[in-house]
Amino acid sequence: MKLISVVVPCYNEQEVLPMFYDEIIKVTDGMKKEHPDTEFEFLFINDGSKDRTLEIFRELADKDKRVRYISFSRNFGKESGMYAGLKNCKGDFVVVMDADLQHPPAFLPEMYNYVRSGEFDCATTRRVSRTGESPVRSWFARKFYKIMNKISDTEIVDGAQDFRFMTRQMVDAILDMSEYNRFSKGIFSWVGFRTKYMPYENVERPAGTSSWSFWGLFRYSLEGIMAFSTFPLALSIFCGIISLVIGFVLLVIALIVEFATNSSGALLFILSVIFGIGGVQLGCIGIMGQYLGKTYLEVKNRPVYITGETDEDYRNKKNADK
Ligand code: UDP
Ligand code: MG
Repeated sequence: MKLISVVVPCYNEQEVLPMFYDEIIKVTDGMKKEHPDTEFEFLFINDGSKDRTLEIFRELADKDKRVRYISFSRNFGKESGMYAGLKNCKGDFVVVMDADLQHPPAFLPEMYNYVRSGEFDCATTRRVSRTGESPVRSWFARKFYKIMNKISDTEIVDGAQDFRFMTRQMVDAILDMSEYNRFSKGIFSWVGFRTKYMPYENVERPAGTSSWSFWGLFRYSLEGIMAFSTFPLALSIFCGIISLVIGFVLLVIALIVEFATNSSGALLFILSVIFGIGGVQLGCIGIMGQYLGKTYLEVKNRPVYITGETDEDYRNKKNADK
């Protein structure tokens, strides 16, 4: 038997939850027919909703014993919801998806095929269009991915989403990253593994509203940059060097003015000292930033490596196939 856990973080989703449940049951029943050795569990996370979300969970749990839920004491954010779900699910395969049907359950059978065959460890969707999104927001989103991929070693695919069908192995690797500030897009990519990206057109929410404001997204993207890059800490070194160079140029000009002309170079000399000292200070702060960056990475306590396969896995698999 193979157990598939469907993890769904929910925040104020009373309007779409019943629709989502009907839809997911339809799709998973179909998958069960195709693969009779497959079981499902549905793990809903109530992220401190202020509406009837929790009551709906209870109703679902009453009528379907595969439904489990965890209800938070307050709103902790979607990242915490996903973490709680991954930590508490029991499946051999795990799906993370939104409740608002923007992650269409219709993708699940195909995703399952990719992961089940052993060809991929993770199947996910990638938005190829941003229809239904304001142009300003799309522009910022594109710029974010561009900057992020320049300054970070972790590649973040533009349009990649938190809609993931993963193996237990990948889920365990994600849970090994126990950092508090979680930026899932980066974490999914950081752990590696073979990922299948399935392109799709953006779908709009059938009901309810997105809980992301523009500023919320902006803060979240800064969070992403801080979590996966220490580049901003190095910025003051560059500023320091530029300031030093300006100071030096000013000093040369001050000397020329003082000795080669009749006017006084005193003012320029003072300016050059200001730039020079400023540059040295910024440079020192930058050096401290480098150490802080290293400390930051140590404190995160990320795994030093993640194993994909060993000879033991290979032999076990070969025996199982026989
Ligand atoms: N969500 C959550 N906690 C939050 C905000 C959102 O669990 O604080 C859930 C929400 O219920 C939904 C998913 O995260 O299932 C995506 O949220 P939303 O649709 O608002 O984001 P968008 O699709 O606009 O990125
Ligand atoms: Mg949504």
